[in-house]
Amino acid sequence: MAKILLIGANHAGTAAANTILDTYPGNELTIIDRNDNISSLGCGTALWVGRQIPSSDGLFYSSAAALESKGATVHMETEVTGIDFDAKTATAKTKNGSELHLDFDKLILATGSAPIMPNIPGSDLGNIQSVKLFQDGKRADELLGKPEIKTVAVIGAGYIGVELAEAIVRRGRKALLFEAESTSLASYYDDCMTADMDKTLGDNGVELHFGERVQSFKGDGVVSGIVTDKGDYQIDMAIMAIGFRPNATLAGGKLKTIGNGAIAVNARQETSIPGVYAVGDCASIYSNALRDWTYIALATNAVRSGIVAAHNACGGSIESPGVQGSNGISVFGYNMVSTGLSEKAAKKAGLDVLTTDFAALQKPAFMPDNHEVKLRIVYDAKTRRVLGAQMASRENMSMGIHMFSLAVEDGVTIDRLKLLDIFFLPHFNQPYNYITMAALSAK
Ligand SMILES: Cc1cc2nc3c(=O)[nH]c(=O)nc-3n(C[C@H](O)[C@H](O)[C@H](O)COP(=O)(O)OP(=O)(O)OC[C@H]3O[C@@H](n4cnc5c(N)ncnc54)[C@H](O)[C@@H]3O)c2cc1C
Repeated sequence: MAKILLIGANHAGTAAANTILDTYPGNELTIIDRNDNISSLGCGTALWVGRQIPSSDGLFYSSAAALESKGATVHMETEVTGIDFDAKTATAKTKNGSELHLDFDKLILATGSAPIMPNIPGSDLGNIQSVKLFQDGKRADELLGKPEIKTVAVIGAGYIGVELAEAIVRRGRKALLFEAESTSLASYYDDCMTADMDKTLGDNGVELHFGERVQSFKGDGVVSGIVTDKGDYQIDMAIMAIGFRPNATLAGGKLKTIGNGAIAVNARQETSIPGVYAVGDCASIYSNALRDWTYIALATNAVRSGIVAAHNACGGSIESPGVQGSNGISVFGYNMVSTGLSEKAAKKAGLDVLTTDFAALQKPAFMPDNHEVKLRIVYDAKTRRVLGAQMASRENMSMGIHMFSLAVEDGVTIDRLKLLDIFFLPHFNQPYNYITMAALSAK
């Protein structure tokens, strides 16, 4: 039986904790988190801020009390300030300033990520808000409730920026969406796929400023203007959503890291020091599309990696199969899902790829409530291995992407999909469905 110390108790930490407590009773589990809540579902922030759900009450699925009731010792509002990996001890500071000294046999780091805040003039002004913690969402929500907040700039058109732009419009405020790339969601989708999302955003009142770089904020105490390389705009609030960096300071130069500072792990989630595991947004992850280690900050990856580390820390032997970075977004009724690499991302990684596209109604034309679905499959030009897929529609076609996720994970070729047995029923799809048609029309 081991003394396990778990630092960080959001999605990765909660998954690790539940696995240890449910599957390996008898271990001594101590959990430390500097926040006052755990398991906060950031994915619900925009839904709540935009009043698509009535309150934030359901945005937590666990608590310190729930983990304590299963036998863990939990210290909330307590920050781990240092780790001695040789002595296997950690030091933490509680809310009231006292110090805790903890020793461990096994350590799981689940310290997550922090929003990237650009160091540009005026970025320390009031009413400029990032959205990461539950408390950040609460502050954004409170600001949007003030009558003087009329125009809000969102910086970054990744999935969080796009979702918040929708929320701002739904709250009756003007949203200006700034993005250095020429489209929204540029990290996950090719331009031909995002065109309809960009149109949907524009049609619903989001003012799009793509291909525009933010240079500074203006204001006196609070933000009142934003300056880009193309213009100068009056605003009352700004939301920073340009991405996340791994929160890996506790690695302290002792653990190996990858390019962006994420803690390097192996398939068992073990770091360069045996018995020390890193999971979720603070750790590297293996991409089956790239066939290399990379960084993909998603709750789904956090949960799976937490489970893997927990089994291994308790004496089991489990390897992560790697990920595809499968993701989805639904904004103003327009849905997009993707897995693996876009053509753009594949080329950036130096891969020689081809694409095949197909668009068709989801169901036969005689069926009501029927929308066009766009599908793009990206595959390796030589091996023909499927490297990614993207789908977009007003239809809820989201489940279709899971098959492509498995295809990327298993190295399935585009040719294998040509005659794949796909059922047909008018209620759901077409006899000549878009997956078959896209695969058949692959070069
Ligand atoms: C607005 C928003 C929407 C999102 N939507 C989605 C979505 O729809 N789907 C999806 O898959 N992902 C989504 N994500 C991403 C997802 O939330 C993250 O990938 C996930 O939270 C990572 O979980 P984690 O446990 O690894 O890290 P984190 O959530 O960052 O948690 C890390 C924890 O560690 C604690 N901690 C850090 N340092 C210390 C320390 N020194 N001492 C003690 N405690 C410490 C922190 O307090 C925190 O509780 C979204 C994120 C945001 C912000």
